[in-house]
This record gives sequence, C-alpha cells and structure tokens, in this order.
Amino acid sequence: MAVDSQRVEPRTLDAEDRVGHFREVQRGYTEEEAVAEANRCLQCKRPPCAAGCPVGINIPAFIDMIARGLYREAIEKIKEKNNLPAVCGRVCPQEVQCEKKCILAKRGEPVAIGNLERFAADWERETGSMSLPYPGDCRFNIAVVGSGPSSLTAAADLAKMGYCVTIYEALHEPGGVLIYGIPEFRLPKNIVRQEIDYIKRLGVSIKTNTVIGKTKTVDELLESHDAVFIGSGAGLPYFLGIPGEHLNGVYTANEFLTRSNLMGAHEFPSVDTPLGIGKNVAVVGAGNVAMDAARTAIRLGAENVHLVYRRTREEMPARRDEIDKAQEEGVQFQLLSSPEKVIGDDKGNVMGLSCQRYDLGEPDHTGRRKPISREHGEFCLPVDTVIIAVGQGVNPLVLESTEGFEIGPGGYLITDEVGATTRPGVFAGGDVATGTDTVIKAMGGGKKAALAIHECLEMRRKGKRVGASGRC
Ligand code: FAD
Ligand code: SF4
Repeated sequence: MAVDSQRVEPRTLDAEDRVGHFREVQRGYTEEEAVAEANRCLQCKRPPCAAGCPVGINIPAFIDMIARGLYREAIEKIKEKNNLPAVCGRVCPQEVQCEKKCILAKRGEPVAIGNLERFAADWERETGSMSLPYPGDCRFNIAVVGSGPSSLTAAADLAKMGYCVTIYEALHEPGGVLIYGIPEFRLPKNIVRQEIDYIKRLGVSIKTNTVIGKTKTVDELLESHDAVFIGSGAGLPYFLGIPGEHLNGVYTANEFLTRSNLMGAHEFPSVDTPLGIGKNVAVVGAGNVAMDAARTAIRLGAENVHLVYRRTREEMPARRDEIDKAQEEGVQFQLLSSPEKVIGDDKGNVMGLSCQRYDLGEPDHTGRRKPISREHGEFCLPVDTVIIAVGQGVNPLVLESTEGFEIGPGGYLITDEVGATTRPGVFAGGDVATGTDTVIKAMGGGKKAALAIHECLEMRRKGKRVGASGRC
C-alpha cells in the first residue's frame, strides 16, 4: 500500500466553462485513478472510518475490492448497507463524516472514500450491470410518506426484508430534495432516477401526487397498512421578517430551486415554467442551499450575484468545496452584512436590498465572536432579485392532521432512539424528526426505523404482545 502517495483528486470542469451550462461540475475517477486511490487505504484492523458512516458501510472492504479491480463485488458490498450510493458519493459531506475519521486525515489527506463510492456506483450504472432485485413475499404492508432519502432507504430496506411497501409522495416526481433541491450540476437527475428505479425493482411501489394529510390521512393509511413510516422532510422555508419581502422578484430558495430543478425552468422556453430573474441577484444565507441558489442564478444568466451573510467565511455552514466553487464561479461575498429591507419601485418590483455592515466583537457564550452593527455601515445592493436561503422547518400538514403525535420545540416530530413516534405503528426519520440535516443522516434515520418496524412486526407475527414502549 502506497502510504505516502498523494490523494487523487478527481477532474473538475473549469469555472469559465461550467457557468455556461448545468452539466455536472465534478467528474468521476477513471479506473486507473480509482485503483490508485484505493491503494492508499491502510486497511486498518480497527477502521475508524466505518464509525463515521451513518449507514454503516464496510468501508475498508469495498475499497480493498476496488484496489483489486473487483468492482462488482465492491458495489455489492456497498449496497448491503446503502441503496443510494451514486447519490451519496456525490453529495455526502464525507469530510465531516467517514473521511474525517480516516487515519490518514491526521496527515491532511484522508482516503477519498466518497469518490471511491461514486466510482463503484457509476461503474455499475455505466456497465449496465445493476444488481438483481431481492424477491419480496409481502408478509405485511407498509406505507411510507414522502420519497426523499429517508423514505427511499426505509422502503428499500423493508422491501429487502420481504415487506410490501408503498411510498406516497405529494409531488409528481419522487426523490425529495435530491430531485427538487440539489441542482443538476451537483447531482444529475438521471442518476437519482436510476437509483430510484433500482428501489422500484426491489418491489417498492410509488404513488405520486398523493398529499398525506389531504388526499389520505395517516389514520386512513393505518387502516390498510401494518405500519407507517413518515419521511416528509423539512421543506417549509423561513422568511427574514423584514419589510419588502412581498415584492415581485423575492423568492425563497426552495421555490427558486424547485422551479429550476423540478419544473425544468432552466430550459425555458422549451419547457412551460419560466423563472424570471434579473441581471443582479442577492442571495441571503450561507448554507448549501444558499450556494446552490447563487450558482444556479449565475447559470441562469445573472451578471452579479451577491451572497449576503452576517458572519465571516469561516463560519459559513456550507461545505468548503461548495463555498470555493461558488467563489470561483464569480459569486460575490458580502460578509459581516445583514439585510434590513427589500426596496421596491412604484410597480412593486424589487430594485434594491438595503443592508447593514457589522464588525466582530467579543466572543459570546458559544465562543463565537458576536457581530456588532458598524457605525455608518448602511449600504444598498442594486438588485432586481432577492433569494432567501435562511433555513427551513417542517411542513405541519401531516403532523397536524394526525392525533397523538408529540411535537418538539422546533415543530419536529418526536421519536425515540429507533424512530418510533408516540403513535403505535407509526415511525419517522430524516429531516421531519431531526430538523434540516444531511442526506446520509436522513438515510441513517430511515434505516434505523426500517429495522424497528421489522422487529415490531416480527413480534406481532409471533403473536407476542409488543413491549411497554407501545411501538406497534
Ligand atoms: P426530503 O428530501 O425533504 O423529502 C421529503 C419528501 O416528502 C419530499 O419529496 C416531499 O414532497 C414529501 N412530502 C412532504 N410532505 C408530504 C405529504 N404531506 N404527503 C406526501 N409527501 C410529502 N445534504 C447533504 O448531505 N449534502 C448536500 O449537498 C445537501 N445539499 C442540499 C441542498 C439543498 C438545496 C437542500 C434543500 C438540502 C440539501 N441537503 C444536503 C440536505 C438534504 O437534502 C436533506 O437533509 C435530506 O434530503 C432530507 O431527507 P428527507 O428524506 O428527510 O426529506
Ligand atoms: Fe482505510 Fe482510512 Fe478507513 Fe483506515 S480509516 S480503513 S486508511 S479509509
């Protein structure tokens, strides 16, 4: 094993090239690159990386298979635990999960676990050798609400265990944020669709255009199913609460990205959905969602895209790589700045964003230096579009239309450690239970709940009463 060798970085399209289209920015490894990177793995006896993976992939084992050219075996090893490997290889924040724990991270260059996972998944798709589905014998019927990563994982794991699973999705296409939130240039939609096809081939049925809480309630689902999993996410956007948010030209990032990704607005007029943005755009926020909105605005033809954030670059919650790529593509960072008012013209259209600059004061109780208003720090960005990306909460529809749930302070659905809600037979996972988090953590929640549903139904099948927790 080449312990001292440098991490192999995948090829990335140049910034000038990539801003002109929505094609994927980061390319995958070639076989040669993948084998070279896999050979950097030390095959630790007690691998710390495995503990950093929320779905528990046997990381050293699949890397060893790639190093030996056994790509089919590698993808099968990954799929024992992960039903969406091509998605995770692209969007998981590995740098704060498995790669952070890799022993080589101490030298600054952990094994590129995510890129290797992506390589194995892409190899399988490109060589047309998708694994065969598991046969199901439908011992029990399970309903799954929503079709984001938590639901897809719960559904796939349950189908593999032999259950009959139906997903009910409010939108016309399944995939949750993977389809309507994360842009094409980071996560191509044909890849998400193919991973969903694999889950369908496991026997999972998907009913779209079905809003649980309106079309059917959770109580109605319980009449015809043995258990229900709720993975309805956290897609309700927050607003800033400043004057002028009602003006034409103000979007939430959620609406903006959905129009572009799900409704194909970036291909207007060849599709029906327009997405009117001007030449000058302000995006408020600094998480992954804000970076995605800013980079999408640039690709839609905006000449100036300002990202307004009240702290510094170091405190931005987005992945470092996304921050770097946004800056390379020309996004202008207005740091230590906060919006105070959206300014409109006499026709009710946005014509500017009035902001205030800050300085950093003494650290507060969290240890972070507190922003303090700068004297004469007011300034106005001359923009015609404002995109708000300051976080999202849970859509209350499913929760409010169901009796007996315990709801936490942020409006999130309270579950126990295995994902059971306070309603017997109803389980939950992903953002609806944790608040906005990551794809892989949502998948981890779906996996845990699938196992708990299985254990609960096994007890029921054996005619045993279910324990004091009242999970079933
Ligand atoms: P979701 O993906 O939100 O899916 C919920 C699904 O439930 C949706 O399809 C919704 O339509 C459906 N639904 C809601 N209510 C109902 C109802 N009443 N009836 C039926 N269906 C319903 N994470 C990362 O790890 N890496 C990233 O790079 C990253 N980038 C992101 C970029 C954006 C723009 C956004 C918004 C999020 C990003 N995240 C990222 C976060 C990540 O996508 C989420 O944490 C994850 O998708 C949560 O999965 P989920 O299954 O809980 O819910
Ligand atoms: Fe390989 Fe790093 Fe995991 Fe060790 S910690 S097994 S070197 S990926």
